[in-house]
Amino acid sequence: MSSASSAAAGSHDWYKLDVDRVLEQLRVDPNQGLSDLEAARRLHRYGPNLLPDRSSRRPVELLAAQLRSTLVLVLAGASAVSLALGDLVDAAAIAVILLLNASLGFWQEYRAERAMSALRQLSAPVVRVRREGRVLELPAGQLVPGDVVLLEAGNIVPADGRLLECSNLRVQEAALTGESEPVEKQVAALTGDLPLGDRRNMVYAGTFVAYGRGTAVVTETGMNTELGTVAALLGSVRAQPTPLQVRLNHLGRLLAGVAVVLALVIFALGLLRGEDWRLVFLTAVSLAVAAVPEGLPAVVTIALALGAQRMLRRRALIRVLTAVETLGAVTTICTDKTGTLTENKMRVTVLEVPGARTPPPASPSGAARSQADRPGIGLLLLGGALCSDAWLPPEEAAEADPRVVGDPTEAAIVVAAARWGLLKFELERYLPRVAEVPFDSERKRMTTVHQVRHDLVADKPQAPWWGKHLPSPHSPYLAFTKGAVDSVLQVSSYLWVDGRSVPMDDARRRELLEAQDAIARGGERVLGIAYRPLESLPPMDAPIEQALTFVGMIGMMDPPRPEAYAAVARCRRAGIRPIMITGDHPLTALRVAQALDIATDAHVLTGKELEVMGIDHLASVVEQVSVYARVSPLHKLKIIQALQRRGHVVAMTGDGVNDAPALKAADVGVAMGLKGTDVAKEAAEIVLLDDNFSTIVAAVEEGRAIYDNIRKFVRYLLASNVAELFVMLLGPLIGMPLPLLSLQILWINLVTDGLPALALGLEPAEPDVMERPPRSPDEHILGGGLAPRIVWTSLLMGVISLALGAIYWWHGAPQWQSMVFMTLTLSQMAHVLAARSERKLLLTLGPRSNPYLLGAVVLTVLLQVMAVYASPLQAVLGTVGLPAMDLLLSLAASSIILVALELEKVIRHAGTSRR
Ligand code: ADP
Ligand code: MG
Repeated sequence: MSSASSAAAGSHDWYKLDVDRVLEQLRVDPNQGLSDLEAARRLHRYGPNLLPDRSSRRPVELLAAQLRSTLVLVLAGASAVSLALGDLVDAAAIAVILLLNASLGFWQEYRAERAMSALRQLSAPVVRVRREGRVLELPAGQLVPGDVVLLEAGNIVPADGRLLECSNLRVQEAALTGESEPVEKQVAALTGDLPLGDRRNMVYAGTFVAYGRGTAVVTETGMNTELGTVAALLGSVRAQPTPLQVRLNHLGRLLAGVAVVLALVIFALGLLRGEDWRLVFLTAVSLAVAAVPEGLPAVVTIALALGAQRMLRRRALIRVLTAVETLGAVTTICTDKTGTLTENKMRVTVLEVPGARTPPPASPSGAARSQADRPGIGLLLLGGALCSDAWLPPEEAAEADPRVVGDPTEAAIVVAAARWGLLKFELERYLPRVAEVPFDSERKRMTTVHQVRHDLVADKPQAPWWGKHLPSPHSPYLAFTKGAVDSVLQVSSYLWVDGRSVPMDDARRRELLEAQDAIARGGERVLGIAYRPLESLPPMDAPIEQALTFVGMIGMMDPPRPEAYAAVARCRRAGIRPIMITGDHPLTALRVAQALDIATDAHVLTGKELEVMGIDHLASVVEQVSVYARVSPLHKLKIIQALQRRGHVVAMTGDGVNDAPALKAADVGVAMGLKGTDVAKEAAEIVLLDDNFSTIVAAVEEGRAIYDNIRKFVRYLLASNVAELFVMLLGPLIGMPLPLLSLQILWINLVTDGLPALALGLEPAEPDVMERPPRSPDEHILGGGLAPRIVWTSLLMGVISLALGAIYWWHGAPQWQSMVFMTLTLSQMAHVLAARSERKLLLTLGPRSNPYLLGAVVLTVLLQVMAVYASPLQAVLGTVGLPAMDLLLSLAASSIILVALELEKVIRHAGTSRR
C-alpha cells in the first residue's frame, strides 16, 4: 500500500517513467487490472473520483437560507414588536406562522434540490475498466489509482493517467491547456520538465478523446487530478437559473415593491382614520409579507424538476433544467436518420460486384454453391468482414439470428459474410489486423491493414477455401477500405473485374455510381469495399487510402421504427417541422424521409451543396428543404444557424465527437444515450435513453405541459396575492375599518399559497398540448392574455369578498370580518379550480385527473372552516363562527369566480373558432 501512496505523491513525474516502472509503482498487472478487493481498498484510501459538487445545497444550508430570508426577518421583527407591546398572543401566533411558512418553504426547496441531484447522478458518465481480467463498465466516480481504463474516440477522460497503449490516439485538451488542436499521444517515456500540453504519454481528466483508441493506467483521481487542481482554484459555479426563473424573480421583486408601497399606503390610511397604530402597523407588515409570492421560485424549480422526472419516465434524460422550458417552444426538430428514425437493425439485402449481383444466403447452410460461382462476392465479404469492428462470437455463428456486438452496419456485413462461410474470427487468424484508420463521419470510410499469413493461406491441404480468392498473392500486407461508395471511389484507381485489377475509368465510375443510386433509391444504405496490396507496413502518418482497387458494394436495409410514423404526424399537428440530417446517400435519405412523411417533395440538399452556400442563401432555402444528406457534423452547425436566423427554436440530435459544436449551438441539443459518445452527451441538454425520435416528441409534449403548468400556478399565486391587496386597500377607501387582521392575512397566505399552487404544478398534460402551434420563444410568461386575466380575476375576488363583508358591516353584524376572511379563501379555491386549464372547462377535465389538487382544495377548505369554527383558532385569529346561511352565502359568492372564469373560456373559445 505504501508504495502506491508514495507514488501518488511524486505525481508530476509519471511522464518521465517507462510504462513498466509506472505499473510497478501503481502495483497493477495491465492485462488483469486491479482485483476487486484491491480496488475497494484503494477506493477507501483515496476516496471517490469526484470533484465536489458545489451546485447542490445541503439541507442545513437550505434551512439557513429560509431563516435568513427577508420575509422571515420582517415577520420576526413584527413578532418582536408585538412582544414589546405586550401582545403575547399575537407575538406567538406570528412566530408559529413564521415557522410554518419557513418549513413549507424548506420542504419545497428540499424536494427541488433532491430531484435535481437525482438527475445529476443519472447523467454521470461510465468508464470501461479492466478489473480481475475482465472489462467492466463503471461509474467514473469509482476509479482508483492503478485502474486500467480503455479509451476510445468520444470518451471523456475520467481521471489522470499514463498511457500504456495507443493507436492513432488524439486527445482534445482545450479544457486544460487552451490548445484547440487535438494532441497526438504516444506511449514512450519523455525526458525533461515538460508543461502539461507536452506530456504526450499522459491523459488528463476532463479532456476528451477526439480520435483513435488507447489504454491508460490511472495515476490520480478526484481532486488530485490536474482538473481537480483547477477546480479547487476556481471553485465551481452554481447552476444557472433558467430564463424563466430569472423572469419570475423579476416579477416577484416587482410585486414585492408594489406590496411595500401599498402597505405604506394602508398604514397611512389607517392612521388617518385614527385606528390604533399598533394594529395598523402589524396589518401593513403582514400584508406586505402575504403579497410577496415567496414560494414562486421553489415551486417553479419543483415543477421543472418533476417535469424532468416525467420526461425520464418517457426515456428522455434532462441534463440542464433550462431544456425543460425550451423544449416546449421548439419549432424544428433536426434528427439523425440511422437509429433515431430507423431501427438501426441493418440486414444485407444485396451484394454487387461487376458482373454479379445476389442477395446473401438466407441461412448459414445456403452458402456452399454460391461460393464457387462468384469469387468477386467472396472477396467483397471477406474485405467487409475484416474491415469491421463488429464481433460475431463463434458460438453465435450458426444461429439464424445471431447476436453481434458492435455497430449495426458492420454487424450486418459480418453476418452476411458468415452466411457465405466467411467467419470473421477465422479470417483474422490468417489475416491479423496490424493497423487501421478509424471511421469518421467526415471521410465516411475506414481502413484496416492486415498481415497476410502466407504460410497458412498458401496451397496446403488445410488452407481455407477462400485462400485462392485473395488478390495479389505475394503481397505481405493487404489493406481493406469500406465506406460510402462515392467516398471509396474517390480514392480508387482500379476495379476488380473477373479476378483481375483493371484501371478505373470514367465510364466504369459512372456505372458504379448509377448502380449505387439504384440500390439507394429503395431506401437502402450502400457501402463500397476496396483493397490495396502493400509491400511493407506503412509508417503511421502515410496516406494508405489511395490507389485502391474497388471490389463491389453491399446494400443493406434498415426499416423505419414503427412508432416514428405516428411521432412525425404528431410533430406536424403540433406545428413542429421535422428535418432529417444524415450522412447517408441522398436517395437513401429521401426514400426513408418520404416513407415517414418528413419529406413531402423530392428536395434534398447535400453537404457539398450547402457548403458553398452563404448563410443568408441557406437561410432562404431551409424553410423548403427537409432532407439533408451526405452531411458532416460541421454542416449541422450551419443548418442550425440558418434555421435560427429564421427565428426557429431548434432541437438537434447528435452522437459523435464532432457533433458537440452543433449540440451546443442548438437551442436544445439532443444526444443519443445508446450510441452517443460521452462528448456528445456532455454537450447536450437532453439525452435520449433509447435513441428514439419519438422520445424527442414525447419530451416536447412534456415540456409544453410543464410550461402550461407554470403559467397556471404563477397566475394563481399572483391573482391570490393581488386580491388580498385589493381587499385591504379598497376597504379603508370605502370607509370601512381594516377588513382583515394581520394574523388573518398571514393565515390566508399560509393555507392558499403552498399546497394548491404546488398541486397545480402536477396537472397532467392537457389533451390538446400537441394540437396547437409552439409558443413564441419571446412570449412573456404572462403573455397570451394572462396578465389582464390576473388583474380582473383578482379585482373580482377582492370586490366580492369585500362587498359581502361591507353589507354585514353596514348592518352592524359582528361576523362581517369573518365573512371577508372566509370568502377570500373560498374564492381562491374557486380560482385554483378554474386555473387548471386556460382553455378547457373544469367539467371536461373532471375532478379525478388531478387528485393532488382535489386533495389540496379539500384540505384548505377544512383548515379554513376550522379557523372560523374552532374556538382556540377563533381566539387567536379573531374570527367568529358563521351561521350556516352565511357560510352558504360565502360559498355562493365565491363560486361567482369559477363561473366567471369558465364563461370567459366559453366566450373566448367561441371567438377563436369563429375566426
Ligand atoms: P448517419 O447520419 O445515417 O448516422 P453516418 O455518418 O453513420 O450516417 O454514415 C454516413 C455514411 O458513412 C454511410 O452512408 C455509410 O456509407 C458510411 N458508413 C457508416 N458507417 C460506416 C462504417 N462503420 N464503416 C464504413 N463506412 C460507414
Ligand atoms: Mg451513424
